Amino acid sequence: MAPIKHVVIVGAGPAGLLLGLMLGQAGIKSTILEAWSTVDKRLRATQYGTPATRVLRKAGVLEDIRAAGYRNFPSICWRKTSTKEEVARIDLGITRNEEDRITVIPLAQMLEVILEHIKKLPEGICDVRFGHRVVDLGQDEKSAWVDVEVAAEHGAEQDGEIVGDKEKVRFEGDYVVGCDGGKSTVRKKLFGSEWPGVTHPHELFVCNVFYDGFDKAGWDGGNYMVDPNHWGLIAKRKPGTPCKPALWRVTYGDKVGLTQEEYLKAREDKFRKMLPGAPEPEQYTTEQTDRFKTHNRCVTSMRVGRVMVAADAAHVCTPYGGYGCMAGIVDIGGLVECLVGISEGKTDDDILTKWSEIRVEKFLRYIGPRSIKNMQRLHKPDVIDEDKFMLILKDLNDKGQDDMKAFLLKYTSFEHDFTQYYHTAPAA
Ligand SMILES: Cc1cc2nc3c(=O)[nH]c(=O)nc-3n(C[C@H](O)[C@H](O)[C@H](O)COP(=O)(O)OP(=O)(O)OC[C@H]3O[C@@H](n4cnc5c(N)ncnc54)[C@H](O)[C@@H]3O)c2cc1C
Repeated sequence: MAPIKHVVIVGAGPAGLLLGLMLGQAGIKSTILEAWSTVDKRLRATQYGTPATRVLRKAGVLEDIRAAGYRNFPSICWRKTSTKEEVARIDLGITRNEEDRITVIPLAQMLEVILEHIKKLPEGICDVRFGHRVVDLGQDEKSAWVDVEVAAEHGAEQDGEIVGDKEKVRFEGDYVVGCDGGKSTVRKKLFGSEWPGVTHPHELFVCNVFYDGFDKAGWDGGNYMVDPNHWGLIAKRKPGTPCKPALWRVTYGDKVGLTQEEYLKAREDKFRKMLPGAPEPEQYTTEQTDRFKTHNRCVTSMRVGRVMVAADAAHVCTPYGGYGCMAGIVDIGGLVECLVGISEGKTDDDILTKWSEIRVEKFLRYIGPRSIKNMQRLHKPDVIDEDKFMLILKDLNDKGQDDMKAFLLKYTSFEHDFTQYYHTAPAA
């Protein structure tokens, strides 16, 4: 096959930016089209497990991400909300010197780091265009293309839509990759409204919180809160400094469709129940709140001809356990191996079908179901003593540090090496 000349990437989230960066490092040109004028700043992912860390390391961004993020995240534990008693714990300190340990940084900051690395690529190899909204796509045997709306003289980008005067522009490449998130236009153009799976019956509320009661109670790291009604995750996201208290993020599930007033009222009660010291509103300050519907859904195929969908555009899951972005980053690591292999004549285009089959299987068999279990574990406290994962943790903690360390860093069932499908001899 001839070398790949150009890949069109839709979306400048973690999947799209990482794909553009890694293709650029291999000398493959891409254009990244992003509807908004900036990267997404909402409170979403912050922790990315070892499989994602390995891809970030391969992309050469890990050191800068660690420097900008939370370099040594200390621990993860599960607590009963009613008593705050700890029922299980993973001491992450034992992996503090391991390159492949969990990565912790708010998503928006990680995107800025990846963008900086893209800027350092040779000029023109990865062209990131903000304010470019993809509205349609097409393909034939030789190429694939997207039609994009951009603001004309009296137009502007507003919440990801182009309003006022707009122009339509076409971008064409050997392949189009939709990395345009859960509401993906690329996926809808390929499959319509078909996206098998479920929508969960609650909404997730996420809030940045400054409250000295966490430190006073000796809390640190990630604290999964277990309770039938008041369940969620309370996690330290930035250690404090002499001038600024530590930043914590509180995430919990509540009824779908609360008005802003109802939400604020309910939040006071949630915080009283979930935070140590049952604080009143004057004892903490909050900064930025975002709310999300959550789903577990996956496409039947991540490839249709010359068009692919990856990460959230293809599959979404509950955020508990930090699997969503991690799964997307692992998709991209594999896709880069496939596209680079094709471009360098080490494999042929069929490898993309294999990539799709394997990534769909990994999601349906392991990632999606485990993310649901991670969530259910939080609101079914009575099962916690019989929970298989909890029993594994207990066993590992009993055996000692070496076994736990091997468990935390092992090559997981989420990962797959696509270079194993390269031809052993160079293509004729
Ligand atoms: C509360 C919460 C907490 C989470 N925590 C974690 C965690 O700790 N760890 C983890 O691994 N995952 C977590 N996730 C999931 C994670 O945030 C997502 O899986 C990840 O952001 C998906 O990345 P992406 O690049 O596929 O899509 P996105 O990040 O959604 O990026 C898609 C981009 O495409 C753009 N776009 C959309 N449509 C178009 C269009 N038509 N044209 C051009 N551009 C377009 C969007 O503007 C956006 O910038 C969490 C999610 C939530 C909601």
